[in-house]
Amino acid sequence: MLEVRGLRSSYGRIEVIHGVDLDVGTGEIVALIGANGAGKTTLLRAISGVQPISAGEIRLEGAAITRDAAHRRVAGGIVQVPEGRQVFKPLSVEDNLRLGAYRRRKSPEADVERIYAMFPILKEKRLQPAGGLSGGQQQMLAIGRAIMGDPKLLLLDEPSMGLAPVIVGQIFEVIRTLKAEGVTILLVEQNAGAALAIADRAYVMETGRMAMSGIASVLAADENVRRAYLGI
Ligand code: ATP
Repeated sequence: MLEVRGLRSSYGRIEVIHGVDLDVGTGEIVALIGANGAGKTTLLRAISGVQPISAGEIRLEGAAITRDAAHRRVAGGIVQVPEGRQVFKPLSVEDNLRLGAYRRRKSPEADVERIYAMFPILKEKRLQPAGGLSGGQQQMLAIGRAIMGDPKLLLLDEPSMGLAPVIVGQIFEVIRTLKAEGVTILLVEQNAGAALAIADRAYVMETGRMAMSGIASVLAADENVRRAYLGI
């Protein structure tokens, strides 16, 4: 589905991604873990086309998208749920969902109902402004809005950030459901334990480089990973 090769990216003259490779296969959940500042968010933003790159190739289903603008990548099926959720706070829950479907011509009604089935609380609050939702509900809305875009590849940036454990559990349950429905997912997480438990494969990023990669359950059992990222 997604192939990243030799990707480099900088802020001004400071390079923060030093030539990374990453693959996400169709139907997989791939986790990207690593310490604060390792470059995970920058890499996700480079894949969705909102962060410039200085070298490397990005391919989606075999076709090079490296030079495509962000909106073309969205049209091609790459949809990102940004860190910090960024829902449109003054707009109602339902209007937020409808905005996620802006690029599609067919009526979004069936998909709105699908999102409500996944997140009943959003249906209850559908006419309320998104800014009045709790953090967990806003994360559900941000994910729901992304699903309205009918993604082939969903990029999730720290969906558990700042949420209570019980809500984190719900969010990860939804990620599992999306996978079962055939959505391919690249998941950036500080919560390495939860991410490795849900993922098929994972990459560990350290200061702009891929330090390790492999089957998620194998990484979760690795001594170095356990000590550095799982606090065990
Ligand atoms: P976090 O978990 O904190 O989001 P991360 O692994 O996602 O960390 P990035 O946010 O991609 O890491 O940051 C990678 C590096 O780039 C860090 O050294 C960070 O300080 C730097 N950086 C991030 N955003 C900017 C920016 N807008 N301008 C300059 N440097 C930045």
